[in-house]
Order: sequence, then structure tokens, then C-alpha cells
Amino acid sequence: MNILIVEDEDEIAQLIKLYLEKEGFSCETCRDGNTGLQLFRDRQPDLIVLDLMLPGLDGLEVCARIRQQPGSKDPYILMLTAKGEEIDRIIGLSTGADDYMVKPFSPRELVARVRALLRRSLRHSAQSQVYRTPHFTVDLDQRTALRQTGEQEIGGQAVGLLDLTPLEFDLLATFMSYPGRVWNRTQLVERLWGEDFFGDERVVDSHIARLRKKIEPDPSHPSFVKTVIGVGYRFEDD
Ligand code: CA
Repeated sequence: MNILIVEDEDEIAQLIKLYLEKEGFSCETCRDGNTGLQLFRDRQPDLIVLDLMLPGLDGLEVCARIRQQPGSKDPYILMLTAKGEEIDRIIGLSTGADDYMVKPFSPRELVARVRALLRRSLRHSAQSQVYRTPHFTVDLDQRTALRQTGEQEIGGQAVGLLDLTPLEFDLLATFMSYPGRVWNRTQLVERLWGEDFFGDERVVDSHIARLRKKIEPDPSHPSFVKTVIGVGYRFEDD
């Protein structure tokens, strides 16, 4: 597993590298957003630890550009922020980060979060299963999601392969594993991040919003991922 650390504060970058290498991960560090993007393209890391405040391109911009990159392996992205208030910005902007941590953080907790994210990818690659509903097919083995019917373009995407981040994919796969089932946020967090999730469950809402933009003809009146008021979410496709 390869990890890219994009962090302009050397001490923090070296500390993260030290702890992750102790766990057997192979790590590379860089100090600015442009180099980070270049290394992402060259090395195709499995996970990126990405600081929010960086010289040049900031972390949000780097994150957005990585998520827009077609055809490349989609890495997990763990964002680092200096201030608690920025969490609202990260969640609100639906940047495409999979998880975030506020500085100062314990390196042990960071290692735990990284392991939790990467464990999800291992768990999923061990499965071989396909879920089908009238509009969608999700292949857990290939990790591909397909929208097979519908006349309208959605979020600029025509019928065909959906361009989803790893978490959006897992969310859709989870919903499609039990169409009609009502999921609360805690259940979705456990499915997506595992039981050792330490963060804020509201992060689920932002991934739901982004998934809706990609699969719903009208994201403000969803026809597939429905809100169940006071409880959570339900996927319907019939
Ligand atoms: Ca910084």
C-alpha cells in the first residue's frame, strides 16, 4: 500500500511518515499542492494524507482535481485541517475527502484512520458479487457502477459507467445490497468506515449529496436515494 503525504510543515509530515512506515506502508512526502498532484498522477497512491492549507494549490483544490481526473485510480483522501471551523467548510463543500482530522492530532489515531480506510478496500476486493436493480448495476469485484436506463443526462454523465469516488461507490453498493431498507447514519458509517470511525456522522450526508448529484435526475427531489425524515436514508428503484 502506497501513501502520499502532502503537508508543508516538515515536522508533521515526517511524524506521519514515521508512524505509517512503522506500520509497513510505503510513504512519499511533498510540500505543495502542485507537486502533490504530479505525484498522484505518477505514483497512483492508495491513499493521500492531504493538508488543507498548502502553498500554491490548497488541499481543497487538490482534492477536487484528483476527483475530476478521469480514468485514474481513485485514492482514499484523508484531509488534515488546522482549525475545527474548517470542518464545516470541508463537509459543506463536499470536496470528495473520505475522512478528515483536526490538528493537533495523535499520530496513533491517524494510523488507525488510515488502516480503517484501507481495510475497507481490502474487504471489498475479497468479495465477488453483482447487485442489479432496474436502473443500476454494481459489480463489487470490478468496483464498477453502471446506470443502464434513463433518457436524461445526470450531472453531465450519460447512461453508462458512473464516475464515483470509492465512498460513493460503497454507499451505492450498500444501498443496492438491500433495496427498500432504511439505514440510519450510524449504520451507514459502520458499513462504510467500520466500527472504528471516530469522526462526525454528518460526513455521511455530504457523500449522499454527492452521490445524488451523480445518479438522480433531480437531486433536490431524489427518486432513488430517499430521505427518511428523522431516521436516515432508503434506496428505492422499481
Ligand atoms: Ca499547512
